[in-house]
Amino acid sequence: MSTVKLSVYITAQGVIRNGATPEGRKRLVDDIRGIGAKKVFIEVWRGATQTPSETLRVVRDAFVAAGIEVATGLMPVRGRDVALEGTAQWDSDAALGGNSRWGADICYSRPWSREALAKAITAGAELFDEFIIDDALCTQCTCPRCRAARGERSWGQFRRDVLVDVCRETIVATARKANPKIKMILKYPQWYDRLPVFGYDTARQPTEFNATWIGTETRDPFTPDFGYVPQYEACFNVRWHKAAEPNLEGAWFDYIECDPMIYVEQAYQSVLGGARNLTLFCYSEPLFGTNDYLLAALKAHMPRLEALAARLDGQEPIGLVTVRPHNPAPQEDGYIFDGLGMLGFPLVPRADWPKTPPKALLVTDHVAADPNLAAQVAKVVNAGGTVFMTAAVLAQNDDNAALKGLAGFQDDGWSQPNSWESARFCVGGNDIVAAAPIPFRFDLRPSTAKVLAAVGGVAHHRTEWVPVVTRQEHSSGGAVVVLNVFGAAPRDFRMDENLNVPLPLRMQEYPAEVVNVMQEEIARATGRGFRTPARVGYYPFSGGDCALENFTDRTVFAVPIGDALPAGAKELLGMSRITDRADVESAEHGGPAGVRGVRLPPHTVALISTR
Ligand SMILES: [Zn+2]
Repeated sequence: MSTVKLSVYITAQGVIRNGATPEGRKRLVDDIRGIGAKKVFIEVWRGATQTPSETLRVVRDAFVAAGIEVATGLMPVRGRDVALEGTAQWDSDAALGGNSRWGADICYSRPWSREALAKAITAGAELFDEFIIDDALCTQCTCPRCRAARGERSWGQFRRDVLVDVCRETIVATARKANPKIKMILKYPQWYDRLPVFGYDTARQPTEFNATWIGTETRDPFTPDFGYVPQYEACFNVRWHKAAEPNLEGAWFDYIECDPMIYVEQAYQSVLGGARNLTLFCYSEPLFGTNDYLLAALKAHMPRLEALAARLDGQEPIGLVTVRPHNPAPQEDGYIFDGLGMLGFPLVPRADWPKTPPKALLVTDHVAADPNLAAQVAKVVNAGGTVFMTAAVLAQNDDNAALKGLAGFQDDGWSQPNSWESARFCVGGNDIVAAAPIPFRFDLRPSTAKVLAAVGGVAHHRTEWVPVVTRQEHSSGGAVVVLNVFGAAPRDFRMDENLNVPLPLRMQEYPAEVVNVMQEEIARATGRGFRTPARVGYYPFSGGDCALENFTDRTVFAVPIGDALPAGAKELLGMSRITDRADVESAEHGGPAGVRGVRLPPHTVALISTR
């Protein structure tokens, strides 16, 4: 019995192109069976293209006959009001109100859009018992109709209100009318910190559907086309949605901008996040034809993914609890979780404050305006726990004496916006030079907090060391650790990439010595951890196992801290090994010889069993 179940999504264009002939259908079934997939989504509508019902029916029947599960799907994108074709309003005519200005999304203030959607929903629901909505159920429209309908609401609030109604009435009610037993699924896009801006509402939408899925298509982290998305985002996304939505069912990734390593990393991150159902987008020439080496790589890794999933079933992720509320509005820390995860922060996200104070808590500016923030931080510190806090949280709470006192920034201490770059760092009295200058956006001036790592900076017209990591200890045994890091601000989003991570998250370029300071604080707070350079993920679990993933192009030696690697520890996936530092000639970073650790070749995953 396999633990990881693969599904393949076939777009309307793909269904039409391949499904019309018996030969085409046979090839479809053979290709999908060939990669071991157990299920297909046969799409009914994508933009203005609707799959003819007869084609849907014969393709469905071909898969059913082959013993493969079937469902349908729909992508609410690039639809245009056909009544406007050939007119000046076809693209966008601000004066008259044409189609959506974005050109790829839908204006839901026009009757045609809901009518077209309802028609497609009905056509799919008549033939299938399961229906997934692909991830463009959003709108950026600011046309005169939308402006009038918005009234006094913010654009985000207006769009969320509209789309909750579209989900309830146009999508789910329409589908249930055509097929009362249909299972309805909403797939959330990967761009979690922009969801509320463009109409996704994680607080209200999931209850309208039977299940949710989440996008883990992180793609190439070094190119701007789909954002500079760090690989860890996939894991974070699954974990957050799983904690925040009772009915998360699976993850979904694609092949765009992927080489085999990046492609397979998406699968590992999905599984480490907690997903066991993986949908591959999509049946197409690039994935199943010219770039079939991607699927070959995935197939080669499937036994390891299965072993990883089976081993982790029944174990919960542990580490740093972090609260990211529903529909947040981060000002400086957008997508910061992705960057911190790449430094080995083992994040356990959730949407609400935990009832019992965790040993380790991370607060970002997603909760900076929460009136309970200082009380929640105090609760953890008073119970002997450690709170990790971003510079933005302090900067946005300059008048919060209680919070600043907990962090060791009381009286004339502060965190203030600034902007500079530096390659000079200082840890434990040693100067370290980074490979290239790294930008910073906050000056920190602690009062009583101890500076654990610093960077050369220019503040108030004088050169000085600016803290990168500070620690304030408390008599309870608790502590507050402040991190000079930043994520995406609303101003960072560009016209052509306003969804995904809009800038490289530069903490990933901190020298290993600085990253190690943070990792030591995590280990001190949670009892265990590893020293690694940046771009190595760390995933401890409740049963005593932990995983490490090396996202770099170099061999990495992970040095255990605390009881991360007891004498009986074993590596279970066979790509990396537990060895002595002296055996690792090409290691980029590690402790002295005689130290046992984990040797991870480039782009590999280790699963360490400690029992
Ligand atoms: Zn509009």
